Amino acid sequence: MSRPWRRLAIAGSVGWPQGPAWHAVVTDELSDYLLRMPENSTLYVRHGDADEGPDAIAHRWASSPRSALVAHMQGQAGPAIPNRADVEIIEERLPADWAACNPHCKEFKADGSPHRRPNPGYPDHPRRGHLPDYCPSAGHWRNPNVVGYLYDGPPNRCERKHYTPIPDARVSLLMAWNYNNSPGTSATVRHAITMGVPYRVWGAFG
Ligand SMILES: [Zn+2]
Repeated sequence: MSRPWRRLAIAGSVGWPQGPAWHAVVTDELSDYLLRMPENSTLYVRHGDADEGPDAIAHRWASSPRSALVAHMQGQAGPAIPNRADVEIIEERLPADWAACNPHCKEFKADGSPHRRPNPGYPDHPRRGHLPDYCPSAGHWRNPNVVGYLYDGPPNRCERKHYTPIPDARVSLLMAWNYNNSPGTSATVRHAITMGVPYRVWGAFG
């Protein structure tokens, strides 16, 4: 019998605040989901690998010792909280490809300026590294991958005929933490809605 599994997709605004309470809004949901996993199962945690915000929080959560994940719940009244060492956690990190353009990228914008942008942090930008210039739509093309699909349609639309499921990437639930309606997080939720991927959104405004 194959091992049961669930796949959580994580999306979130890179501007999601850093304070402990904001952090716990994310980690409490992840720990709660872990506690509800089937016995001896695999939990895939899929995210866009941003170096700030909920992607980074989920990365640190998935890399933590198992005992640390539920430590904050232990010591409370009631039955002991299991640390669910029987559940295997596998992270699926999907960084945006800043180097390559998608075939749908146009070389020039309507006003004649180039589509690709110079990398202001060259040569040491934390995400775009050594690239002298980059595709500003890289996140846009990557976002549907987070919910398990390739998308080859026009930017800023979600047309069903342009989606192709990625093999072995079916998402059980998208958890999205949206701060000030950031465009990337909102777009990821729209991809999930279009393709019938279950989702929950935590919205916040600062
Ligand atoms: Zn491009």
